[in-house]
Amino acid sequence: METCNETKLTFLGTGTSQGIPVIGCHCPVCSSSDQKDKRLRSSALIEHQGLKILIDAGPDFRQQLLREGVDNLDAILITHEHKDHTGGLDDVRAINFLTKKALPIYCEERVRKSLEMEYSYAFTEYKYPGAPEFDIRVIDENPFEVVSRSDPSKRVSVIPIRVLHYKLPILGYRINNIAYITDANRVDESELAKLRGLDVLVVNTVRKQRHISHFSLNEAIAFAQLVGAKRSFLTHLSHQMPVYSELEKELPEGINQAYDGLTLNTL
Ligand SMILES: [Zn+2]
Ligand SMILES: [Zn+2]
Ligand SMILES: [Zn+2]
Repeated sequence: METCNETKLTFLGTGTSQGIPVIGCHCPVCSSSDQKDKRLRSSALIEHQGLKILIDAGPDFRQQLLREGVDNLDAILITHEHKDHTGGLDDVRAINFLTKKALPIYCEERVRKSLEMEYSYAFTEYKYPGAPEFDIRVIDENPFEVVSRSDPSKRVSVIPIRVLHYKLPILGYRINNIAYITDANRVDESELAKLRGLDVLVVNTVRKQRHISHFSLNEAIAFAQLVGAKRSFLTHLSHQMPVYSELEKELPEGINQAYDGLTLNTL
């Protein structure tokens, strides 16, 4: 029986932009037979109050929804316009077909403009039948509500979190007691108040060495410790990290790697 405050997070993908294995690479991580070393592009499904809310829809979107048996979504929240976070949006056609409705997609104005270029055929006045139907809802840093498509009395509030991806201001999201921050390498102190009392923090890191636009491993760990969620999970990892089983031994208490298919429940 689902309690009203229960929130479920499923990691659909936990890899950096190229995914793991990388095409043509035979390094130990890309050659590993451990399923936890196979990482599709980063994306997560959050279920709360009966709503299914997807964060990002990268190039592996179709495969990820099929794997997890997801056949409907109430909304997609986009963190930013990079292709590893938006490249799968054409496949919302399947959901459009089932629901006969456009799918709500929440993003910032700059991201909307980028989607209009990336998916120009979905925004033209006279659309080819069967083109994807996006119901774009432009957001800023203010909290907003996602309304259930099947039961409008159910709604979930979402708190955007401003983070920097090198110089690009992008968004993380908090839903209930879970926050998801990807592709960041700086979060201003002013945003920390939005991250208090978390059960789960998800934060990105790509490798141990410093990176121009992502937290290094130590930076991600320091950020997780600063936020102080009960549990923290690393996502958006690259093959420049050690294999899953090795890296897991190096992480401090309360911080773990996410892996594709990992599901968490919070109350
Ligand atoms: Zn990315
Ligand atoms: Zn590799
Ligand atoms: Zn990015």
